[in-house]
Amino acid sequence: MGSDLDKTAADDNVIQPFQLESSNLRGRVVRVGSVINEVLEPHGYPNPIAHLVAEAMTVTLLLSSMLKYEGIFTLQAQGDGPVSTLVADVTTGGEVRGCATFDAERLQHSREQLSALKAEESSRNHLAQYLGKGYLAFTVDQGKHTDRYQGIVELKGSSIVDCVQHYFNQSEQIGSGIKMAAGKRGELWRAGAIMLQHMPEDEKNPEAGAGNMNEDDWRRSMILLDTCTEDELLDPALHSNELLTRLFHEEGVRVFEPIAVTKGCRCNVDKVRTIVTKLPPEDIEHIAVNGKIEMHCEFCSKDFVFDLNDIRATVETKTT
Ligand SMILES: [Zn+2]
Repeated sequence: MGSDLDKTAADDNVIQPFQLESSNLRGRVVRVGSVINEVLEPHGYPNPIAHLVAEAMTVTLLLSSMLKYEGIFTLQAQGDGPVSTLVADVTTGGEVRGCATFDAERLQHSREQLSALKAEESSRNHLAQYLGKGYLAFTVDQGKHTDRYQGIVELKGSSIVDCVQHYFNQSEQIGSGIKMAAGKRGELWRAGAIMLQHMPEDEKNPEAGAGNMNEDDWRRSMILLDTCTEDELLDPALHSNELLTRLFHEEGVRVFEPIAVTKGCRCNVDKVRTIVTKLPPEDIEHIAVNGKIEMHCEFCSKDFVFDLNDIRATVETKTT
């Protein structure tokens, strides 16, 4: 059930579902602060990479919350630019993580080119600059016995949000409008996004708006959404509900129970150990240094150290 717009409750690291009463459009607001910093901090990424990871995590939160699933939603971008991989995923419980793989030398070169052009390092055109040509994929993993759904779209436009919009318009025929911003406020990263969606009539999804969507309603809502500024999305003092009121007060905003977002990594010593023992024996010998095997979680930067003899013993028992 919806509730009145409470502007006093804590409003950081949340996904806030809402609906516009006048047009039956459904939407989500995502606001993230400390969680993004907790994820980024151990990596020590240069600014453009931190920005991409923050954006990927925010888009992941936004998209996952529009779906009905139990499991893990993953967004992954692969390109031929300085950044080869960008990944973010979130569990149904709201545990999010993200990371990127990049070539530091090529990245530096790319940044120098940008400054030579006096172009600003921002979200406005980082896709071509940093990721280059490639694709963006979405996966829903619901465990062994259910479908793994994958959507895929070419890297196109100036941001991940552009790609996502392109994907919805082309592949799914779902009308969608997204405004998003990620940036530093002082020393800390923040990100915010709003999405409005009109779904085609779908019995499995009664919450989605009615099929007889009025074009005027859609256009008016998109114009209102477009007035939302980057400052509004990133202002920690501006409550999501206050923001929704500013944008859509004449449309009648109904908000639903917010979903809390936390930093979460699913790596653990047993999982990593299993990965090591499944490697070809020659690789195990190759990666060992002074009788120890060190593994590193790309997502949370945690290090795992195993004893080579111990790993050898496990592999031998398995193979004999
Ligand atoms: Zn981890």
